[in-house]
Amino acid sequence: MPETYEAAQGITGVDTQMAGRTRLTSAYLLGGDEPALVETGPTTSVEAVMAGLGSLGLGSADLAHIVVTHIHLDHAGGVGTLARHFPAASIWVHERGAPHLADPTKLVHSAGRVYGEERLRTLFGPMEPVPSERLRPVADGDKVPLGTRGLDVLYTPGHASHHIALVDSLSGALFTGDALGIHLPDARVLRPATPPPDIDIELGVQSIERIRSRAESVLLFSHFGPVTAVDELCSIASARLRKWAEIVREALDETDDLERVAELLERRTASEFEDGPLPREEIDFERYEVLSSMRMNAEGLVRYWKKRPEREASDEVAPTGAQPPS
Ligand SMILES: [Zn+2]
Repeated sequence: MPETYEAAQGITGVDTQMAGRTRLTSAYLLGGDEPALVETGPTTSVEAVMAGLGSLGLGSADLAHIVVTHIHLDHAGGVGTLARHFPAASIWVHERGAPHLADPTKLVHSAGRVYGEERLRTLFGPMEPVPSERLRPVADGDKVPLGTRGLDVLYTPGHASHHIALVDSLSGALFTGDALGIHLPDARVLRPATPPPDIDIELGVQSIERIRSRAESVLLFSHFGPVTAVDELCSIASARLRKWAEIVREALDETDDLERVAELLERRTASEFEDGPLPREEIDFERYEVLSSMRMNAEGLVRYWKKRPEREASDEVAPTGAQPPS
């Protein structure tokens, strides 16, 4: 059964039914003279997405664009298969992500390392390449033209180095991807998403502030759905991102064992669920874990702290005005 819902003005949410679960990962259809799909879900979701688009009256020749916020498999894994089913669609992605959609070998390999082969297969399935002539790489400040409406591209690294957020010119709705973390409608608790390999806390916080300053009406989470409390969620997102990073930094003073770090992170952030509207016994914690496990979040943060000295050294610039006399 296709599941679709009204997300914003002229934007319909399509539940990708990822991992056989509803209200976990959303794609969005922007209506108009050039219909566009934002996010695809993984390959295992293609059938559900196609059924959803079909129920909205979209035939195989009708979809003009597919846009992804980043190339993680829960957002873009299905893009190659959908591109084959919708041969008229152009595929828009950040320029750093584009080569990995043309040749997903490395992307799938790296996801396999994070998830393990078994979960990779059941959660996401295989990934088809996108023919490179159909790829439209974008960067910050670009506009994705969709006929009567368009999407402004905001480069929002932090969760991933190739992450973009998108602002719809017609409704003002802002597609957050994973820049703010995940926010599931059943528990309504915002949790950071800090997977390996390239999360960056400072950039992540800056990106959240950019999103706050550009959001006009509603945030559309890939996980999952619309939220209008923009300021509140942006504040929570940046505070929690910093807090989680700090917890892992402190844990690393005690131990290098990833399982132990993940356990500490889980324990020290458990109270966040109490800030949500639901009593603890009604929260399905497993839904958060399926999307973004504590082990994966801990692994991303450990890697961030271990690589930070290197990154800082490479960022150093020669002080200006202090050249030695020649
Ligand atoms: Zn992601």
